[in-house]
Amino acid sequence: MPEKDPTVLERPTGLKAKLNSITRFYVGDVSVLSSDDVRRVLIINLFASVGILFTCPLGIASFFQGKLLLGSVLIGVTFLYSANHIYLRRTHRHVVSGNFVIYPLYALMLYLIYTGGVNGTGHVWLYCVPAVALFLHGLKKGLIELAIFTLLLSILMFYTDNHFSEFGYHPSLKSRILFSFAVVVFLSGIYEFSMSRFNDELKTTSAKLKLVAYTDMLTNLLNRRGIYQKLEQRQQAHLLLADVDFFKRVNDEYGHDAGDYALEKIAQIMRAGLPKGALSSRWGGEEFLLAVFDCSHHEAYEIAESVRNLVADYEFNYLDQSFHVTLSFGIASMNDTVSLREAITLADSHLYNAKRAGRNQTRRD
Ligand code: GH3
Ligand code: MG
Ligand code: MG
Repeated sequence: MPEKDPTVLERPTGLKAKLNSITRFYVGDVSVLSSDDVRRVLIINLFASVGILFTCPLGIASFFQGKLLLGSVLIGVTFLYSANHIYLRRTHRHVVSGNFVIYPLYALMLYLIYTGGVNGTGHVWLYCVPAVALFLHGLKKGLIELAIFTLLLSILMFYTDNHFSEFGYHPSLKSRILFSFAVVVFLSGIYEFSMSRFNDELKTTSAKLKLVAYTDMLTNLLNRRGIYQKLEQRQQAHLLLADVDFFKRVNDEYGHDAGDYALEKIAQIMRAGLPKGALSSRWGGEEFLLAVFDCSHHEAYEIAESVRNLVADYEFNYLDQSFHVTLSFGIASMNDTVSLREAITLADSHLYNAKRAGRNQTRRD
């Protein structure tokens, strides 16, 4: 069976594909966004949709009850959230769009607290605010806004001629509403705090895993997967494939640790000898794949020759033993007509020719 290329992304199938197509229908093409942004776009849209589902019927009901101002406010919010949905679907600018969700929500809640909404029940909707505010604006900004909002609520409740006196509620209701609101803010804050900590840890772990997955631990160069992934993003490159000559002998004569030390040193020499922007990787065992860009084929050849000479001239000292090693190089170019895979195969066959011709030399197209 042919080996699976680790760098090729597979198309999602089954349930995942179905979910992707529903998401696409709902919020447009989000393939260019990061997964965090996709999540935000989706959730803001869901907030807005839930908002529409509640404000629209309640607004119509208010009109039927003759409450024209309340009806107009609720229908106004419905239109605002609908426009926001279209804006977000088209632009995916979730920060701007999030503001269009949260600020009207604050205003609507203050209005409901003041007027009582439908039959004096407006205050029951207050508890939606903390979760939305903390999600959209994060812990710090969200809590500051909620503190200001709570202050405005208190002023509206205790110092204005609001609906509470009109509906004959128990006098303790206002302070109970404020207290329970503060409890919900506190609990939502704890949840948001633990979620953001968890997210940070996840990001750090994911960055570490990426590093491990794309780095060779002995030489600290890119590994095969690492350089392959980087080269796949380029249109043009000269590939310099190097293999240490008679490396088995180094292991046999000086020990495996001396061999490891030599590989580390060779990697350092290569890194130092390559021009800025070049890539270096441990392709496997004692083979290295280097890539140079924006230069001619001949310049790439000269770079390989200079690295080869640097290694050949270097005296390797391990414990009390000293020795020399040499490299053979095969060079090929990847471009519009030669794919990455084809260029690697070509470089490999040139390397083979360099070995057959006596080693310690560079062969190219
Ligand atoms: P040639 O000039 O034909 O390339 O000869 P060679 O001896 O280098 O080639 P061969 O493929 O026979 O041997 C490669 C050796 O590299 C065998 C293997 O033990 C050694 N090697 C591969 N990876 C490592 C490593 O990580 N550390 C050490 N010390 N040796 C390694
Ligand atoms: Mg080899
Ligand atoms: Mg070798």
